Order: sequence, then structure tokens, then C-alpha cells
Amino acid sequence: MPGVKCTIDNCHYWSPGNECVANQILITNDATAAKLPDRYDAKQVESIVSTMGETPAGTCTDTCCKTFEHGGSKSKSKG
Ligand code: SF4
Repeated sequence: MPGVKCTIDNCHYWSPGNECVANQILITNDATAAKLPDRYDAKQVESIVSTMGETPAGTCTDTCCKTFEHGGSKSKSKG
């Protein structure tokens, strides 16, 4: 996704240069994230976000990416 830099290189959507190549990602606060399923695929983001409303965070450490999918470069290099 243009403009989104991410260093989570074991994510399926991570690309060399620390680029996120997902079409869409879902970021929410940790409290909300804990109530949701583990992850939302990029294809699911549009439908879920319309039902969520706003979820403010106190600090940057209160936020997380719910589009993370295990399976990036580190996973692939391990076989
Ligand atoms: S989906 Fe989230 S965790 Fe995965 S590369 Fe993109 S921003 Fe990073």
C-alpha cells in the first residue's frame, strides 16, 4: 500500500524495503482489537470498518494492525 512502511517482515503483506503491499489494512486500538477475531484480511477490511465506528487510542503503543498475516519472508526462508 503506497506510503505505508512496516518492519513486520514475517507478515504475508510485507515486501523488501519495509513496504506493506496489502490493498487495505485495518488499524485499531488494542482494546478493540482484543475483542475482534485475530485478523482481518485486506479483502475484509472495508466491510468490518463500516461497522466499527471510531476507536481512539491513548498512545501509539495502543494501536495494532489487524491485517497482519503470518507468512512473510522469515517464515518462507525457514521453509
Ligand atoms: S498488513 Fe500490517 S503487519 Fe502486515 S505488512 Fe502491512 S502494515 Fe505490516
